[in-house]
Amino acid sequence: MAAAMYRGVLFAEKIIARRGAQVLSNAAVAPLAGVQQKRHLNVHEHVSFTLLKKAGIPVPGFGVAHTAEEAVDIAKGLDSTDVVVKAQVLTGGRGKGYFKGGLKGGVKLVYSADEAGDIAGKMIGDLLVTKQTGEKGIACNKVMVCERKFPRREFYMAIMLERSFGGPVIIASSQGGVNIEEVAEESPDAIFKFPIDIAVGMTDDKAKEIALKLGLESRLEETVAVIHSLYNAFVNYDASLIEINPYAEDTYGKMYALDAKMKFDDNAEFRQKDIFSERDWSQEDPKEVEASQHNLNYIALDGNIGCLVNGAGLAMATMDIIKLHGGSPANFLDVGGGATSEQVKEAFKIITADPQVHAIMVNIFGGIMRCDVIAQGIIAAAEELSLKIPIVVRLQGTNVDDAKALIALSNLRILPCDNLDDAAKMAVKLSNIMSLAKAANIDVKFEIPV
Ligand code: GDP
Ligand code: MN
Repeated sequence: MAAAMYRGVLFAEKIIARRGAQVLSNAAVAPLAGVQQKRHLNVHEHVSFTLLKKAGIPVPGFGVAHTAEEAVDIAKGLDSTDVVVKAQVLTGGRGKGYFKGGLKGGVKLVYSADEAGDIAGKMIGDLLVTKQTGEKGIACNKVMVCERKFPRREFYMAIMLERSFGGPVIIASSQGGVNIEEVAEESPDAIFKFPIDIAVGMTDDKAKEIALKLGLESRLEETVAVIHSLYNAFVNYDASLIEINPYAEDTYGKMYALDAKMKFDDNAEFRQKDIFSERDWSQEDPKEVEASQHNLNYIALDGNIGCLVNGAGLAMATMDIIKLHGGSPANFLDVGGGATSEQVKEAFKIITADPQVHAIMVNIFGGIMRCDVIAQGIIAAAEELSLKIPIVVRLQGTNVDDAKALIALSNLRILPCDNLDDAAKMAVKLSNIMSLAKAANIDVKFEIPV
């Protein structure tokens, strides 16, 4: 579960989630990490480099290649003969990752343009596996070719929104680089957090404090300027996270961002159109893409009870209660506050496309969302998809009686339950029966007594 739960979650978020784990139950933390991810746009490193450069943060010269030949051309055009070839995939930990085809490392230092082409050819079209992707890996369709720097010190610098501080927080360390996760494990004191008052913004004093804490007194002015730029970029781009690791000092004493990961608040799409046009659908779970096209929030987990709920809070509660009764959720599907029956049908299609799903639990609290609309969607889906798996439905709220009447009249394998606890127990029992039956190759039919 660990890999799936942290897929696409960056180090800075883990630092925060780890502390969150002490307050939330284990069942709730897993989906939470995913839910946070879902509300954000991730862009490729080369997009982040362009944005950082525009914001005044120095980055090495670079270009993007979709083929080995393009990589050679870019390398020839750079100021240095030593270049770095970097897989453009939306995950962290590339440096320590490996390609399924055999190449070790998603970040390679090479010594000639031809070699850059050779490495690019191996990366493009292959799958990169990192600590954050899990076994299935992530497709590499392009690489970034950039000037190689010679870092003598590597720092870590990130800014993100953090609920417990009620605003942005800068996370920084003088021990940046590929081992940042180990640093956090072994010497958590080496990772500093600086909450920033959003009403005040970044001040010279705060920026100085951060620079000094990082041991950058020799490069004070420059670092203060970079911290201001980082903060301004965060605000002006509507970023929810900017992570620079490493922020490195080279042998000539110059400082560069050698890697950058940025996430953006989905709600800012209307005013960050250029950034959102960089969305790379090839990097996202196809089911999650389909869900988002229907305005549904879907996150795949690895259990066998499909969950359809409205609202993230209810989703958490539903998953917790399923776990409490010994079951395991297959997904998190939130139809939101005002779903149509068409959307509910799409939601069912997505859930049931997963062969691991042995039972479905619907838990809807009808407020703005009307229960009868949900019921219509469920019935339409069950008919159209000729569903073979049991559906336990717990509806409460607006028009619940109409919804129950519709379900009763439908003659389908839908089990209504008023009580959430009973519904969860039922879903767990049924999924166990289905799992056993499936293992024994037996077709199970559910007759609903009328
Ligand atoms: P990540 O593993 O996904 O975080 O990928 P990075 O872009 O951070 O690359 C991994 C590591 O490669 C970095 O932490 C650096 O130590 C190293 N690296 C990246 N660019 C350069 C470079 O220009 N020169 C050198 N020597 N190392 C680099
Ligand atoms: Mn990095």
